[in-house]
Amino acid sequence: MAEIQKEPTIILAGGRIRCRRCQAHSKRSRGQCKKPALRGKAVCRFHGGKSTGPKTHEGRQRIASAKIAHSEETRAKRRGRSESDARMRNFEDIMHVLGMTTAPRWRGRKPNGYVPITTVEQAKAWIAADTLDLHQKLSFDAISEVPPLKLHRN
Ligand SMILES: [Zn+2]
Repeated sequence: MAEIQKEPTIILAGGRIRCRRCQAHSKRSRGQCKKPALRGKAVCRFHGGKSTGPKTHEGRQRIASAKIAHSEETRAKRRGRSESDARMRNFEDIMHVLGMTTAPRWRGRKPNGYVPITTVEQAKAWIAADTLDLHQKLSFDAISEVPPLKLHRN
């Protein structure tokens, strides 16, 4: 999704005042809010500038566990991607451990939860666990994703 260009400042009082502009977008018009931002904030009072955030322990927990929208990103999606990345890394480890390839290793940041496999015994244990895990996931998904029965009546 293309980033929407936001105006960082707004000119007020017939060109005499230039100040930071509210960075919120209208849900209705999709345009940027035309109010100045509150002092020291990025948004106006209507768009959360007056908020000081969750205060109670309960409130903080609720926000922490909420679906935090950053485009379509959620914590669950991020976690899922880390898991599948770690799995791919482990497959690569196994290929190297078993001498199936001499290709250069996958570069970059290691995903969260990734434990490198360096011995054949580790590879065997990992494959056994992964296969079991996969079977459990597949049978669970197969049960939960059966579409509702549609009855066609003419
Ligand atoms: Zn605003």
